Amino acid sequence: MLSLFGSGIGRGIAIGPAYVLKNSDIEIPHVALAASQVNSEVKRFRAAINATENTYKALLKGLAKDAPKESAAFINAHMLMLRDPMIMDESIKIIRKEQVNAEFALQTQADTLIKVFEQMEDAYLRAKKADVQHVANRVLRRLLNIVSHNLDEFNDEDLGGRIVVGKDLSPAETMFIKDRKVASFVTDLGSQISHTAIIARSLKMPAVVGLHGSTRYINDNDMLIVDGMRGIIIINPSSKVLREYKSRQSKIRARERELNTLIKKRSQTADSQRIQLLGNIETAKDVKALTKVNAAGVGLYRTEYLFMNREQAPNESEQFREYKRIASSVGKPVIIRTLDIGGDKQLDFNYPNKQSSESPLGLRAVRMCLSHIEIFKPQLRAILRASAFGKVSIMIPMVSNFDEINQILTIIKQTKAELKAEGISHDSRIKVGGMIEVPAAAIMAEAFAQKLDFLSIGTNDLIQYTLAIDRVDDAVNYLYDPMHPAVLQLIKQVIRAGRKADIPVSLCGEMAGNVQYTRLLLGLGLRNFSMDATYLLDVKDRILNADTTKLRYLVGKIMSSDNPSEARDLLTKLNQI
Ligand code: PEP
Ligand code: MG
Repeated sequence: MLSLFGSGIGRGIAIGPAYVLKNSDIEIPHVALAASQVNSEVKRFRAAINATENTYKALLKGLAKDAPKESAAFINAHMLMLRDPMIMDESIKIIRKEQVNAEFALQTQADTLIKVFEQMEDAYLRAKKADVQHVANRVLRRLLNIVSHNLDEFNDEDLGGRIVVGKDLSPAETMFIKDRKVASFVTDLGSQISHTAIIARSLKMPAVVGLHGSTRYINDNDMLIVDGMRGIIIINPSSKVLREYKSRQSKIRARERELNTLIKKRSQTADSQRIQLLGNIETAKDVKALTKVNAAGVGLYRTEYLFMNREQAPNESEQFREYKRIASSVGKPVIIRTLDIGGDKQLDFNYPNKQSSESPLGLRAVRMCLSHIEIFKPQLRAILRASAFGKVSIMIPMVSNFDEINQILTIIKQTKAELKAEGISHDSRIKVGGMIEVPAAAIMAEAFAQKLDFLSIGTNDLIQYTLAIDRVDDAVNYLYDPMHPAVLQLIKQVIRAGRKADIPVSLCGEMAGNVQYTRLLLGLGLRNFSMDATYLLDVKDRILNADTTKLRYLVGKIMSSDNPSEARDLLTKLNQI
Protein backbone atom coordinates (compact mmCIF):
# COMPACT_ATOMS: atom_id res chain seq x y z
CA MET A 1 0.00 0.00 0.00
CA LEU A 2 1.36 3.41 -0.96
CA SER A 3 -0.19 6.88 -0.74
CA LEU A 4 0.51 9.86 -2.99
CA PHE A 5 -0.60 13.44 -2.43
CA GLY A 6 -1.65 16.05 -4.97
CA SER A 7 -4.44 18.54 -5.60
CA GLY A 8 -7.90 17.04 -5.23
CA ILE A 9 -10.86 17.66 -7.50
CA GLY A 10 -14.46 16.94 -6.56
CA ARG A 11 -15.85 15.73 -3.28
CA GLY A 12 -16.20 12.09 -4.06
CA ILE A 13 -14.14 8.95 -3.79
CA ALA A 14 -13.45 6.56 -6.65
CA ILE A 15 -12.24 3.00 -6.26
CA GLY A 16 -11.13 0.94 -9.25
CA PRO A 17 -8.33 -0.58 -11.32
CA ALA A 18 -5.67 1.68 -12.86
CA TYR A 19 -5.48 2.28 -16.58
CA VAL A 20 -2.01 3.67 -17.16
CA LEU A 21 -1.65 5.64 -20.38
CA LYS A 22 1.24 4.44 -22.48
CA ASN A 23 2.94 6.20 -25.27
CA SER A 24 2.35 3.74 -28.05
CA ASP A 25 4.28 5.15 -30.98
CA ILE A 26 4.40 2.62 -33.75
CA GLU A 27 7.75 1.22 -34.80
CA ILE A 28 7.54 -0.57 -38.11
CA PRO A 29 9.62 -3.73 -38.38
CA HIS A 30 11.16 -4.61 -41.75
CA VAL A 31 11.35 -8.38 -42.28
CA ALA A 32 12.49 -10.21 -45.42
CA LEU A 33 10.29 -13.25 -46.01
CA ALA A 34 11.06 -16.59 -47.57
CA ALA A 35 8.91 -17.31 -50.64
CA SER A 36 7.11 -20.00 -48.66
CA GLN A 37 5.98 -17.44 -46.04
CA VAL A 38 4.38 -14.99 -48.45
CA ASN A 39 0.93 -16.56 -48.64
CA SER A 40 0.51 -16.75 -44.89
CA GLU A 41 1.69 -13.12 -44.58
CA VAL A 42 -1.02 -12.04 -47.03
CA LYS A 43 -3.50 -14.01 -44.96
CA ARG A 44 -2.31 -12.26 -41.79
CA PHE A 45 -2.72 -8.90 -43.51
CA ARG A 46 -6.25 -9.72 -44.70
CA ALA A 47 -7.18 -10.85 -41.18
CA ALA A 48 -5.95 -7.53 -39.76
CA ILE A 49 -8.01 -5.64 -42.34
CA ASN A 50 -11.11 -7.66 -41.41
CA ALA A 51 -10.54 -7.12 -37.70
CA THR A 52 -10.05 -3.39 -38.26
CA GLU A 53 -13.26 -3.25 -40.26
CA ASN A 54 -15.08 -4.93 -37.37
CA THR A 55 -13.70 -2.31 -35.00
CA TYR A 56 -15.04 0.45 -37.24
CA LYS A 57 -18.43 -1.26 -37.33
CA ALA A 58 -18.43 -1.51 -33.54
CA LEU A 59 -17.51 2.16 -33.28
CA LEU A 60 -20.40 3.06 -35.58
CA LYS A 61 -22.79 0.98 -33.55
CA GLY A 62 -21.58 2.48 -30.31
CA LEU A 63 -22.04 6.09 -31.44
CA ALA A 64 -24.37 7.97 -29.16
CA LYS A 65 -27.75 8.81 -30.76
CA ASP A 66 -27.00 12.49 -30.42
CA ALA A 67 -23.44 12.25 -31.77
CA PRO A 68 -22.82 14.76 -34.57
CA LYS A 69 -23.56 13.40 -38.06
CA GLU A 70 -19.93 14.08 -38.93
CA SER A 71 -18.73 11.36 -36.54
CA ALA A 72 -20.51 8.61 -38.47
CA ALA A 73 -19.42 10.11 -41.81
CA PHE A 74 -15.83 10.14 -40.57
CA ILE A 75 -15.90 6.47 -39.55
CA ASN A 76 -17.61 5.45 -42.81
CA ALA A 77 -15.03 7.30 -44.87
CA HIS A 78 -12.22 5.50 -43.04
CA MET A 79 -13.93 2.16 -43.48
CA LEU A 80 -14.16 2.74 -47.24
CA MET A 81 -10.53 3.80 -47.38
CA LEU A 82 -9.52 0.60 -45.58
CA ARG A 83 -10.96 -1.53 -48.42
CA ASP A 84 -9.78 0.81 -51.16
CA PRO A 85 -7.60 -1.11 -53.68
CA MET A 86 -4.98 1.61 -53.31
CA ILE A 87 -4.49 0.53 -49.72
CA MET A 88 -5.43 -3.13 -49.64
CA ASP A 89 -4.50 -4.53 -53.05
CA GLU A 90 -1.39 -2.42 -53.47
CA SER A 91 -0.05 -3.46 -50.05
CA ILE A 92 -0.63 -7.12 -50.93
CA LYS A 93 1.24 -6.59 -54.20
CA ILE A 94 4.19 -5.20 -52.22
CA ILE A 95 4.15 -8.18 -49.83
CA ARG A 96 4.24 -10.56 -52.80
CA LYS A 97 6.65 -8.68 -55.02
CA GLU A 98 9.18 -7.56 -52.41
CA GLN A 99 8.64 -10.51 -50.07
CA VAL A 100 8.33 -8.29 -47.02
CA ASN A 101 6.16 -8.30 -43.90
CA ALA A 102 2.67 -6.81 -43.96
CA GLU A 103 3.49 -3.86 -41.66
CA PHE A 104 6.33 -2.73 -43.86
CA ALA A 105 4.31 -3.17 -47.05
CA LEU A 106 1.37 -1.22 -45.68
CA GLN A 107 3.48 1.68 -44.44
CA THR A 108 5.37 1.79 -47.76
CA GLN A 109 2.07 2.08 -49.63
CA ALA A 110 0.71 4.62 -47.13
CA ASP A 111 3.85 6.75 -47.62
CA THR A 112 3.34 6.66 -51.39
CA LEU A 113 -0.26 7.78 -51.05
CA ILE A 114 0.61 10.47 -48.52
CA LYS A 115 3.15 11.91 -50.98
CA VAL A 116 0.49 12.02 -53.69
CA PHE A 117 -1.94 13.85 -51.40
CA GLU A 118 0.75 16.27 -50.26
CA GLN A 119 1.18 17.46 -53.82
CA MET A 120 -2.50 18.24 -54.32
CA GLU A 121 -3.40 21.88 -54.84
CA ASP A 122 -6.69 21.55 -53.07
CA ALA A 123 -6.35 22.03 -49.29
CA TYR A 124 -9.18 19.57 -48.60
CA LEU A 125 -7.51 16.79 -50.57
CA ARG A 126 -4.14 17.64 -49.04
CA ALA A 127 -5.68 17.09 -45.61
CA LYS A 128 -6.64 13.55 -46.70
CA LYS A 129 -3.09 12.40 -46.03
CA ALA A 130 -3.91 12.42 -42.33
CA ASP A 131 -6.81 10.03 -43.01
CA VAL A 132 -4.52 7.62 -44.84
CA GLN A 133 -2.15 7.48 -41.87
CA HIS A 134 -5.06 7.13 -39.44
CA VAL A 135 -6.39 4.11 -41.31
CA ALA A 136 -2.92 2.60 -41.73
CA ASN A 137 -2.22 3.09 -38.01
CA ARG A 138 -5.32 1.17 -37.06
CA VAL A 139 -4.26 -1.81 -39.18
CA LEU A 140 -0.66 -1.53 -37.96
CA ARG A 141 -1.79 -1.65 -34.35
CA ARG A 142 -3.74 -4.80 -35.15
CA LEU A 143 -0.79 -6.40 -36.91
CA LEU A 144 1.60 -5.53 -34.10
CA ASN A 145 -0.86 -6.26 -31.30
CA ILE A 146 -0.36 -2.81 -29.82
CA VAL A 147 -2.86 -2.11 -27.12
CA SER A 148 -3.74 1.52 -27.52
CA HIS A 149 -3.44 3.08 -24.11
CA ASN A 150 -3.81 6.50 -25.68
CA LEU A 151 -6.93 8.60 -25.29
CA ASP A 152 -7.67 9.01 -28.94
CA GLU A 153 -10.01 7.57 -31.49
CA PHE A 154 -7.92 4.41 -31.75
CA ASN A 155 -8.89 3.49 -28.28
CA ASP A 156 -11.75 1.05 -28.35
CA GLU A 157 -11.07 -0.63 -25.02
CA ASP A 158 -13.66 -0.84 -22.30
CA LEU A 159 -12.68 1.92 -19.87
CA GLY A 160 -15.78 1.56 -17.68
CA GLY A 161 -14.97 1.89 -13.98
CA ARG A 162 -11.22 2.33 -14.60
CA ILE A 163 -9.01 5.06 -13.20
CA VAL A 164 -6.96 6.71 -15.93
CA VAL A 165 -3.38 7.47 -14.89
CA GLY A 166 -1.24 9.76 -17.03
CA LYS A 167 1.38 12.45 -17.03
CA ASP A 168 -1.18 15.05 -18.01
CA LEU A 169 -4.57 15.21 -19.71
CA SER A 170 -5.65 17.91 -22.12
CA PRO A 171 -9.25 19.21 -21.93
CA ALA A 172 -9.85 17.44 -25.27
CA GLU A 173 -8.68 14.09 -23.83
CA THR A 174 -10.84 14.64 -20.78
CA MET A 175 -13.82 15.14 -23.09
CA PHE A 176 -12.92 11.83 -24.70
CA ILE A 177 -13.24 9.99 -21.38
CA LYS A 178 -16.50 11.79 -20.71
CA ASP A 179 -18.48 9.23 -22.65
CA ARG A 180 -16.43 6.21 -21.62
CA LYS A 181 -17.71 5.80 -18.06
CA VAL A 182 -14.22 6.21 -16.60
CA ALA A 183 -14.39 6.32 -12.79
CA SER A 184 -11.65 8.86 -12.19
CA PHE A 185 -8.26 10.10 -13.34
CA VAL A 186 -4.99 11.01 -11.72
CA THR A 187 -2.14 12.94 -13.32
CA ASP A 188 1.42 13.95 -12.52
CA LEU A 189 0.86 17.50 -13.71
CA GLY A 190 -2.12 19.87 -13.77
CA SER A 191 -3.91 22.11 -11.33
CA GLN A 192 -7.32 22.38 -9.72
CA ILE A 193 -8.63 25.16 -11.93
CA SER A 194 -7.39 23.91 -15.28
CA HIS A 195 -10.14 23.22 -17.82
CA THR A 196 -9.36 19.52 -17.40
CA ALA A 197 -10.26 19.80 -13.71
CA ILE A 198 -13.42 21.74 -14.54
CA ILE A 199 -14.61 18.96 -16.85
CA ALA A 200 -13.87 16.38 -14.17
CA ARG A 201 -16.15 18.30 -11.81
CA SER A 202 -18.90 18.43 -14.41
CA LEU A 203 -18.64 14.65 -14.68
CA LYS A 204 -18.94 14.32 -10.92
CA MET A 205 -15.66 12.54 -11.24
CA PRO A 206 -13.27 12.76 -8.31
CA ALA A 207 -9.70 13.20 -9.48
CA VAL A 208 -6.26 14.11 -8.20
CA VAL A 209 -3.81 16.18 -10.25
CA GLY A 210 -0.25 17.38 -9.65
CA LEU A 211 0.74 14.02 -8.13
CA HIS A 212 4.33 13.90 -9.41
CA GLY A 213 5.13 10.24 -9.63
CA SER A 214 1.77 8.67 -10.38
CA THR A 215 3.06 7.20 -13.64
CA ARG A 216 6.20 5.96 -11.89
CA TYR A 217 4.50 4.21 -8.99
CA ILE A 218 1.27 2.94 -10.50
CA ASN A 219 1.07 -0.09 -12.75
CA ASP A 220 -1.76 -1.07 -15.03
CA ASN A 221 -4.57 -2.76 -13.08
CA ASP A 222 -3.27 -1.76 -9.64
CA MET A 223 -6.25 -1.17 -7.36
CA LEU A 224 -6.57 2.55 -6.58
CA ILE A 225 -8.54 4.72 -4.21
CA VAL A 226 -8.87 8.32 -5.39
CA ASP A 227 -9.94 10.77 -2.71
CA GLY A 228 -10.87 13.93 -4.60
CA MET A 229 -11.68 15.90 -1.47
CA ARG A 230 -8.33 15.38 0.25
CA GLY A 231 -6.19 15.06 -2.87
CA ILE A 232 -4.90 11.59 -1.93
CA ILE A 233 -4.54 8.41 -3.89
CA ILE A 234 -3.87 5.05 -2.30
CA ILE A 235 -2.28 2.33 -4.39
CA ASN A 236 -3.27 -1.29 -3.64
CA PRO A 237 -4.98 -0.45 -0.32
CA SER A 238 -5.22 -2.93 2.52
CA SER A 239 -8.68 -4.42 3.09
CA LYS A 240 -9.06 -2.31 6.26
CA VAL A 241 -8.43 0.94 4.34
CA LEU A 242 -10.69 -0.21 1.53
CA ARG A 243 -13.51 -0.81 4.04
CA GLU A 244 -12.96 2.61 5.57
CA TYR A 245 -13.21 4.31 2.19
CA LYS A 246 -16.30 2.36 1.20
CA SER A 247 -17.96 3.58 4.37
CA ARG A 248 -16.90 7.17 3.54
CA GLN A 249 -18.40 6.69 0.09
CA SER A 250 -21.74 5.81 1.65
CA LYS A 251 -21.57 8.86 3.95
CA ILE A 252 -21.05 11.09 0.91
CA ARG A 253 -24.09 9.51 -0.73
CA ALA A 254 -26.11 10.08 2.43
CA ARG A 255 -25.13 13.77 2.41
CA GLU A 256 -26.20 13.97 -1.23
CA ARG A 257 -29.61 12.58 -0.34
CA GLU A 258 -29.90 15.14 2.44
CA LEU A 259 -29.06 17.97 0.04
CA ASN A 260 -31.65 16.71 -2.42
CA THR A 261 -34.34 17.85 0.02
CA LEU A 262 -33.35 21.45 -0.84
CA ILE A 263 -34.08 21.13 -4.55
CA LYS A 264 -37.57 22.64 -4.40
CA LYS A 265 -36.71 25.30 -1.82
CA ARG A 266 -36.71 28.92 -2.94
CA SER A 267 -33.16 30.18 -3.26
CA GLN A 268 -32.91 33.00 -0.77
CA THR A 269 -30.94 34.02 2.28
CA ALA A 270 -32.32 33.94 5.82
CA ASP A 271 -33.06 37.68 5.45
CA SER A 272 -35.04 37.02 2.24
CA GLN A 273 -32.51 38.20 -0.36
CA ARG A 274 -33.25 36.34 -3.60
CA ILE A 275 -30.16 34.63 -4.99
CA GLN A 276 -29.98 33.28 -8.51
CA LEU A 277 -28.23 29.93 -8.76
CA LEU A 278 -27.29 29.17 -12.34
CA GLY A 279 -25.36 26.29 -13.86
CA ASN A 280 -22.21 25.96 -15.95
CA ILE A 281 -22.33 23.45 -18.79
CA GLU A 282 -19.91 22.15 -21.39
CA THR A 283 -22.26 20.08 -23.54
CA ALA A 284 -25.97 19.37 -23.98
CA LYS A 285 -25.54 16.29 -21.81
CA ASP A 286 -24.89 18.48 -18.76
CA VAL A 287 -28.39 19.94 -18.90
CA LYS A 288 -29.91 16.92 -17.18
CA ALA A 289 -27.84 17.43 -14.03
CA LEU A 290 -28.83 21.11 -13.93
CA THR A 291 -32.51 20.35 -14.29
CA LYS A 292 -32.22 17.81 -11.51
CA VAL A 293 -30.99 20.42 -9.04
CA ASN A 294 -33.50 23.00 -10.31
CA ALA A 295 -30.95 25.59 -11.45
CA ALA A 296 -32.37 28.96 -12.51
CA GLY A 297 -30.84 28.52 -15.97
CA VAL A 298 -27.43 28.32 -17.58
CA GLY A 299 -25.01 31.04 -16.51
CA LEU A 300 -22.16 29.78 -18.66
CA TYR A 301 -22.26 27.44 -21.63
CA ARG A 302 -18.67 26.78 -22.71
CA THR A 303 -19.26 26.25 -26.44
CA GLU A 304 -15.65 25.45 -27.28
CA TYR A 305 -16.19 21.79 -26.41
CA LEU A 306 -18.46 21.46 -29.44
CA PHE A 307 -15.39 22.32 -31.52
CA MET A 308 -12.97 19.86 -29.92
CA ASN A 309 -11.95 16.31 -30.85
CA ARG A 310 -13.01 16.66 -34.45
CA GLU A 311 -11.57 17.07 -37.91
CA GLN A 312 -13.65 20.04 -38.98
CA ALA A 313 -15.38 22.96 -37.29
CA PRO A 314 -19.10 22.43 -36.67
CA ASN A 315 -20.93 24.45 -39.32
CA GLU A 316 -23.66 26.98 -38.64
CA SER A 317 -26.51 24.50 -38.88
CA GLU A 318 -24.90 21.96 -36.56
CA GLN A 319 -24.25 24.71 -34.03
CA PHE A 320 -27.77 26.06 -34.44
CA ARG A 321 -29.26 22.62 -33.77
CA GLU A 322 -27.13 22.20 -30.65
CA TYR A 323 -27.85 25.67 -29.22
CA LYS A 324 -31.55 25.36 -29.99
CA ARG A 325 -31.67 21.95 -28.35
CA ILE A 326 -30.02 23.30 -25.22
CA ALA A 327 -32.18 26.43 -25.09
CA SER A 328 -35.39 24.43 -25.42
CA SER A 329 -34.40 21.65 -23.07
CA VAL A 330 -33.34 24.06 -20.32
CA GLY A 331 -36.55 26.09 -20.73
CA LYS A 332 -34.97 28.88 -18.66
CA PRO A 333 -32.41 31.59 -19.53
CA VAL A 334 -29.24 30.31 -21.20
CA ILE A 335 -26.07 32.35 -21.51
CA ILE A 336 -24.06 31.08 -24.45
CA ARG A 337 -20.42 32.02 -24.31
CA THR A 338 -18.74 32.49 -27.67
CA LEU A 339 -15.74 30.37 -28.50
CA ASP A 340 -12.97 30.50 -25.89
CA ILE A 341 -10.13 28.78 -27.71
CA GLY A 342 -6.46 29.29 -26.97
CA GLY A 343 -4.31 28.65 -23.92
CA ASP A 344 -4.87 25.08 -22.76
CA LYS A 345 -7.89 24.64 -25.05
CA GLN A 346 -6.74 23.79 -28.55
CA LEU A 347 -8.54 22.65 -31.68
CA ASP A 348 -7.56 19.61 -33.74
CA PHE A 349 -8.73 20.90 -37.08
CA ASN A 350 -6.82 23.27 -39.26
CA TYR A 351 -7.92 26.74 -40.28
CA PRO A 352 -6.04 29.52 -42.06
CA ASN A 353 -3.40 31.27 -39.94
CA LYS A 354 -3.96 28.91 -37.04
CA GLN A 355 -1.86 29.79 -33.99
CA SER A 356 -1.01 26.86 -31.81
CA SER A 357 0.67 28.73 -28.97
CA GLU A 358 -0.64 27.56 -25.62
CA SER A 359 0.27 30.80 -23.92
CA PRO A 360 -2.66 32.05 -21.86
CA LEU A 361 -1.59 35.54 -22.93
CA GLY A 362 -1.91 34.77 -26.62
CA LEU A 363 -4.62 34.86 -29.24
CA ARG A 364 -7.30 33.43 -26.98
CA ALA A 365 -11.10 33.80 -26.70
CA VAL A 366 -12.47 37.08 -28.12
CA ARG A 367 -9.05 37.87 -29.62
CA MET A 368 -9.07 34.65 -31.60
CA CYS A 369 -12.69 35.18 -32.69
CA LEU A 370 -12.04 38.71 -33.90
CA SER A 371 -9.08 37.58 -35.94
CA HIS A 372 -10.90 34.52 -37.33
CA ILE A 373 -14.18 35.97 -38.35
CA GLU A 374 -14.83 32.95 -40.61
CA ILE A 375 -15.13 30.86 -37.42
CA PHE A 376 -16.84 33.50 -35.31
CA LYS A 377 -19.57 34.59 -37.71
CA PRO A 378 -21.25 31.17 -38.13
CA GLN A 379 -21.29 30.84 -34.34
CA LEU A 380 -22.95 34.21 -33.89
CA ARG A 381 -25.53 33.39 -36.56
CA ALA A 382 -26.23 30.05 -34.89
CA ILE A 383 -26.67 31.64 -31.45
CA LEU A 384 -28.93 34.35 -32.83
CA ARG A 385 -31.04 31.80 -34.68
CA ALA A 386 -31.34 29.72 -31.48
CA SER A 387 -32.49 32.85 -29.63
CA ALA A 388 -35.82 32.49 -31.43
CA PHE A 389 -36.40 29.28 -29.46
CA GLY A 390 -35.56 30.28 -25.90
CA LYS A 391 -34.24 33.00 -23.66
CA VAL A 392 -30.71 33.10 -25.00
CA SER A 393 -27.96 35.65 -24.28
CA ILE A 394 -24.50 36.04 -25.75
CA MET A 395 -21.44 36.28 -23.53
CA ILE A 396 -18.01 37.34 -24.74
CA PRO A 397 -14.98 35.84 -22.97
CA MET A 398 -11.81 37.69 -22.00
CA VAL A 399 -12.71 41.18 -23.14
CA SER A 400 -9.91 43.55 -22.20
CA ASN A 401 -10.60 46.83 -23.96
CA PHE A 402 -13.28 49.07 -25.32
CA ASP A 403 -12.40 48.50 -28.97
CA GLU A 404 -13.08 44.79 -28.60
CA ILE A 405 -16.50 45.48 -27.14
CA ASN A 406 -17.32 47.97 -29.89
CA GLN A 407 -16.18 45.56 -32.59
CA ILE A 408 -18.21 42.72 -31.14
CA LEU A 409 -21.33 44.85 -30.82
CA THR A 410 -20.93 46.02 -34.41
CA ILE A 411 -20.53 42.46 -35.71
CA ILE A 412 -23.59 41.33 -33.76
CA LYS A 413 -25.59 44.26 -35.16
CA GLN A 414 -24.50 43.40 -38.70
CA THR A 415 -25.31 39.73 -38.20
CA LYS A 416 -28.79 40.58 -36.96
CA ALA A 417 -29.33 42.80 -40.00
CA GLU A 418 -28.25 39.95 -42.30
CA LEU A 419 -30.61 37.50 -40.62
CA LYS A 420 -33.45 39.99 -40.85
CA ALA A 421 -32.77 40.51 -44.55
CA GLU A 422 -32.82 36.73 -45.01
CA GLY A 423 -36.11 36.51 -43.12
CA ILE A 424 -34.60 34.31 -40.39
CA SER A 425 -36.17 34.78 -36.99
CA HIS A 426 -34.05 35.69 -33.98
CA ASP A 427 -34.29 37.78 -30.83
CA SER A 428 -33.42 41.25 -32.12
CA ARG A 429 -33.02 42.48 -28.52
CA ILE A 430 -30.72 39.68 -27.45
CA LYS A 431 -28.63 40.58 -24.41
CA VAL A 432 -24.87 40.77 -24.83
CA GLY A 433 -22.64 40.43 -21.80
CA GLY A 434 -18.94 40.29 -21.17
CA MET A 435 -16.78 38.14 -18.96
CA ILE A 436 -14.58 40.00 -16.57
CA GLU A 437 -11.48 37.84 -16.51
CA VAL A 438 -8.63 40.26 -17.08
CA PRO A 439 -7.64 42.80 -14.42
CA ALA A 440 -7.92 45.59 -17.01
CA ALA A 441 -11.57 44.68 -17.54
CA ALA A 442 -12.26 44.63 -13.80
CA ILE A 443 -10.69 48.05 -13.40
CA MET A 444 -12.72 49.32 -16.37
CA ALA A 445 -15.91 47.56 -15.29
CA GLU A 446 -17.86 50.81 -14.80
CA ALA A 447 -17.15 51.87 -18.35
CA PHE A 448 -17.76 48.38 -19.77
CA ALA A 449 -21.06 48.26 -17.91
CA GLN A 450 -22.27 51.21 -19.98
CA LYS A 451 -21.92 49.16 -23.14
CA LEU A 452 -22.90 45.68 -22.02
CA ASP A 453 -26.17 44.20 -20.76
CA PHE A 454 -24.56 42.09 -18.03
CA LEU A 455 -21.18 41.14 -16.59
CA SER A 456 -19.93 37.78 -15.43
CA ILE A 457 -16.80 37.44 -13.33
CA GLY A 458 -14.61 34.58 -14.48
CA THR A 459 -12.50 34.14 -11.40
CA ASN A 460 -10.50 31.24 -12.81
CA ASP A 461 -8.89 33.57 -15.29
CA LEU A 462 -9.19 36.73 -13.24
CA ILE A 463 -7.02 35.10 -10.56
CA GLN A 464 -4.63 33.69 -13.17
CA TYR A 465 -4.10 37.08 -14.81
CA THR A 466 -4.11 39.17 -11.64
CA LEU A 467 -1.55 37.03 -9.85
CA ALA A 468 0.44 36.20 -13.02
CA ILE A 469 0.22 32.42 -12.58
CA ASP A 470 -0.52 30.05 -15.41
CA ARG A 471 -3.62 28.18 -14.23
CA VAL A 472 -2.42 24.86 -15.67
CA ASP A 473 1.10 25.04 -14.25
CA ASP A 474 1.22 23.06 -11.04
CA ALA A 475 4.60 24.57 -10.14
CA VAL A 476 2.91 27.89 -9.35
CA ASN A 477 -0.39 26.41 -8.27
CA TYR A 478 0.39 27.20 -4.63
CA LEU A 479 0.09 30.91 -5.48
CA TYR A 480 -3.44 30.52 -6.80
CA ASP A 481 -5.42 32.31 -4.14
CA PRO A 482 -9.00 33.59 -4.38
CA MET A 483 -8.41 35.29 -1.02
CA HIS A 484 -5.59 37.46 -2.34
CA PRO A 485 -6.63 41.04 -1.45
CA ALA A 486 -6.03 42.19 -5.04
CA VAL A 487 -8.48 39.58 -6.32
CA LEU A 488 -11.11 40.42 -3.72
CA GLN A 489 -10.83 44.14 -4.45
CA LEU A 490 -11.35 43.51 -8.16
CA ILE A 491 -14.39 41.30 -7.53
CA LYS A 492 -15.88 43.95 -5.26
CA GLN A 493 -15.23 46.64 -7.86
CA VAL A 494 -17.05 44.68 -10.58
CA ILE A 495 -20.07 43.97 -8.37
CA ARG A 496 -20.28 47.68 -7.55
CA ALA A 497 -19.95 48.69 -11.19
CA GLY A 498 -22.84 46.43 -12.11
CA ARG A 499 -24.99 47.81 -9.34
CA LYS A 500 -24.22 51.39 -10.35
CA ALA A 501 -25.14 50.71 -13.97
CA ASP A 502 -28.12 48.63 -12.86
CA ILE A 503 -27.10 45.56 -14.82
CA PRO A 504 -26.76 41.99 -13.48
CA VAL A 505 -23.38 40.72 -12.34
CA SER A 506 -22.76 37.04 -11.88
CA LEU A 507 -19.71 35.02 -10.92
CA CYS A 508 -19.09 31.86 -12.91
CA GLY A 509 -15.56 30.77 -12.00
CA GLU A 510 -14.89 27.80 -9.71
CA MET A 511 -15.03 30.15 -6.74
CA ALA A 512 -18.83 30.33 -7.14
CA GLY A 513 -19.17 26.62 -6.39
CA ASN A 514 -16.82 26.60 -3.41
CA VAL A 515 -18.92 26.88 -0.25
CA GLN A 516 -15.99 28.37 1.61
CA TYR A 517 -16.55 31.61 -0.31
CA THR A 518 -20.35 31.71 -0.46
CA ARG A 519 -20.82 34.03 2.52
CA LEU A 520 -17.94 36.26 1.54
CA LEU A 521 -19.38 36.71 -1.96
CA LEU A 522 -22.85 37.36 -0.55
CA GLY A 523 -21.31 39.96 1.74
CA LEU A 524 -19.66 41.60 -1.26
CA GLY A 525 -23.09 41.99 -2.79
CA LEU A 526 -23.07 39.10 -5.27
CA ARG A 527 -26.59 37.87 -6.05
CA ASN A 528 -26.00 35.64 -9.09
CA PHE A 529 -23.83 32.55 -8.87
CA SER A 530 -23.10 30.14 -11.71
CA MET A 531 -21.43 26.82 -11.08
CA ASP A 532 -21.33 23.17 -11.96
CA ALA A 533 -24.52 21.36 -10.95
CA THR A 534 -22.53 19.20 -8.52
CA TYR A 535 -22.06 22.12 -6.16
CA LEU A 536 -25.33 23.92 -6.49
CA LEU A 537 -27.19 22.35 -3.59
CA ASP A 538 -24.27 22.70 -1.22
CA VAL A 539 -24.06 26.40 -2.06
CA LYS A 540 -27.82 26.69 -1.71
CA ASP A 541 -27.58 25.18 1.75
CA ARG A 542 -25.10 27.92 2.73
CA ILE A 543 -27.30 30.60 1.24
CA LEU A 544 -30.40 29.44 3.06
CA ASN A 545 -28.47 29.69 6.30
CA ALA A 546 -26.84 33.07 5.69
CA ASP A 547 -28.14 36.42 6.89
CA THR A 548 -26.54 39.16 4.80
CA THR A 549 -27.10 41.80 7.48
CA LYS A 550 -24.87 39.80 9.80
CA LEU A 551 -22.10 39.33 7.26
CA ARG A 552 -21.23 42.99 6.76
CA TYR A 553 -18.92 43.51 9.71
CA LEU A 554 -16.59 40.57 9.07
CA VAL A 555 -16.64 41.01 5.29
CA GLY A 556 -15.62 44.66 5.84
CA LYS A 557 -12.75 43.48 8.04
CA ILE A 558 -11.63 40.93 5.42
CA MET A 559 -11.66 43.61 2.76
CA SER A 560 -9.59 46.00 4.81
CA SER A 561 -7.02 43.36 5.70
CA ASP A 562 -3.93 43.16 3.55
CA ASN A 563 -2.60 40.14 5.36
CA PRO A 564 -3.85 36.96 3.62
CA SER A 565 -3.49 34.74 6.68
CA GLU A 566 -5.45 37.19 8.82
CA ALA A 567 -8.07 37.33 6.04
CA ARG A 568 -8.29 33.54 6.12
CA ASP A 569 -8.86 33.52 9.89
CA LEU A 570 -11.61 36.08 9.40
CA LEU A 571 -13.13 33.95 6.66
CA THR A 572 -13.25 30.99 9.04
CA LYS A 573 -15.08 33.18 11.56
CA LEU A 574 -17.45 34.40 8.85
CA ASN A 575 -18.33 30.83 7.98
CA GLN A 576 -19.07 30.06 11.61
CA ILE A 577 -21.56 32.85 12.29
C1 PEP B 1 -13.28 31.65 -15.68
O1 PEP B 1 -12.24 32.00 -16.23
O2 PEP B 1 -13.52 31.82 -14.47
C2 PEP B 1 -14.33 30.98 -16.47
C3 PEP B 1 -15.50 30.70 -15.96
O3 PEP B 1 -14.01 30.61 -17.74
P1 PEP B 1 -13.11 29.32 -18.08
O4 PEP B 1 -12.88 28.56 -16.82
O5 PEP B 1 -13.82 28.55 -19.11
O6 PEP B 1 -11.85 29.95 -18.61
MG1 MG C 1 -12.15 32.03 -18.37
